[in-house]
Amino acid sequence: MKITEVRIKLLDGQPDKLRGFASITVDDCLVVRDLKIIDGASGLFIAMPSRKLCDRCPSCGCKNHLRARHCNDCGKRLGASRGSQDERGRMRLYADIAHPIHQEARNQVETRVIEAYRAELERSKEEGYVAHSFDDLDYDSYDRAHGAAD
Ligand SMILES: [Zn+2]
Repeated sequence: MKITEVRIKLLDGQPDKLRGFASITVDDCLVVRDLKIIDGASGLFIAMPSRKLCDRCPSCGCKNHLRARHCNDCGKRLGASRGSQDERGRMRLYADIAHPIHQEARNQVETRVIEAYRAELERSKEEGYVAHSFDDLDYDSYDRAHGAAD
C-alpha cells in the first residue's frame, strides 16, 4: 500500500482534543476521508472514520443511536444495554467504516497523517496560507475518539 496524498484540515482553538481532520489517497486510486487527528494522553494519534451504530425502537420501529435513552420518534424509554459488547464488556457504539487490517498499514497511515499534520501546522503560520476546503466534516463521531483518549 502506498499513501499517495494526504490532506489536512486544521482545527484551531478547539476546547477538546480534536486537532484536525485528514483524508488520504491510497495508490492514487482510493480516497478515505474523515480520519481524525486526536491529541491524546500519549501524544497524537489517528482515529479511523466510523459510524454510529443504531437499533430500532421496539414500540415504533424508529432508528435510534445505541446511546439514546429514549426513542427519538415516540419518546418511549429504551433499554440501557442494547447491541453488542466489545472485548472490555462495554457497549459497542461505533463501527469503523474503513480501517487498516494489520499493524504495518496502521503505522503507515498514522506516520503519514501525523507528518502531514505537522507540515500543515507549519504552513498555517506563513502569510497567505490557504486551508484545503473540506465539505461536511464528520464532527459527529468524535466522542468515540474522545472516550478512547481519556
Ligand atoms: Zn419509538
